[in-house]
Amino acid sequence: MNKIALSSPHIEALEPYMSARRIGGSGEVWLNANELPFPRDSMQLDASQYHRYPDQGPDQVAAAYAAYAGVPPEQVLALRGADEAIDLSIRAYCRAGRDKVLVSSPTYGMYRVSADIQNAPVVDVPLTDDFELDVAAICARDDVKLVFICNPNNPTGNAFRREDIIAVLRHFEGRALVVIDEAYIEFCPRQSLAGELSNFDHLVVVRTMSKAFGLAGVHVGYLLANDAVMSIMRKVVPPYPLADPCAQIALLALSESGIGTMRKQVEEIAGIREAFCRTLSNLTAVRGCLPSAVNFVLAFFDEPELAWRALAGAGIVARGIPDRRLTDAIRFTIGSEEEMALAASVLGKR
Ligand SMILES: *Cc1c(COP(=O)(O)O)cnc(C)c1O
Repeated sequence: MNKIALSSPHIEALEPYMSARRIGGSGEVWLNANELPFPRDSMQLDASQYHRYPDQGPDQVAAAYAAYAGVPPEQVLALRGADEAIDLSIRAYCRAGRDKVLVSSPTYGMYRVSADIQNAPVVDVPLTDDFELDVAAICARDDVKLVFICNPNNPTGNAFRREDIIAVLRHFEGRALVVIDEAYIEFCPRQSLAGELSNFDHLVVVRTMSKAFGLAGVHVGYLLANDAVMSIMRKVVPPYPLADPCAQIALLALSESGIGTMRKQVEEIAGIREAFCRTLSNLTAVRGCLPSAVNFVLAFFDEPELAWRALAGAGIVARGIPDRRLTDAIRFTIGSEEEMALAASVLGKR
């Protein structure tokens, strides 16, 4: 097919996000997208309003999520995943070709993709050698409009020091929006900055039900912010951001029993993670494992090609990270006990 020469040059040059599903792979053991390994039971949904545009649903979901997150309902916007919250923040605050977005690599790849789509320049202030925020270098960038902090960080699995995040928040007060992506916060709830919304007007917190809540296939996420920011976001958000069936499923997951199930599964995953890391640390093939607060771990290998081959041979799909400091690292989502035992045994064979 001939290319139609009408598209924007910056879109033609764009590298789309390589999602785990897009990269694909062959195998039965999927440890590459940070999903929960636990399938859900079927749910009885109410189809009586499917012929109407969803109206009340998103507000009910936002209210239920607000109760769970401990913030007022007007500080919550329910969206199609955390990715939509990231995209919305950039589109609402960054003028194309002008307003810059700061990221700290290695981190979640969608910040850069969403910035590229908006044609907002990206400034990378890499994490320090021990994968902490480089606060001084970040605060030296007074030319940025939006700062992304992924806390805990994907792919390194660590939560940043609270005082570092607060220092960044203080510095950019009145100058830039600070967006804290808490996609994995259920695995370490005390690290949340949502409680700081009452102190900082320029703070945005991003959440999702794709990870700890085990609902990646339903794709519901949230943007948490104060009135001033929220009124801007509400101008940009599409009129029907949540489909009715998704809203119903989210509401069930946010019920008391739904939250209880999530907490139990988070605990189970943490146990499997600790056992997996202990086993990996004892393998000669593994140089080390970063301490993880979440449902994935980053492991470093002396001979990563051998590890990749061993995993592929056993039908295990894990994730490589396109970062120059992580060429010998593999990120493993914590799956079921059996899946992690298989992964560890395959990596231990020589
Ligand atoms: C998975 C992930 C997301 C995307 O979440 P969705 O709600 O599925 O769009 C956002 N941020 C980080 C850091 C993630 O790992």
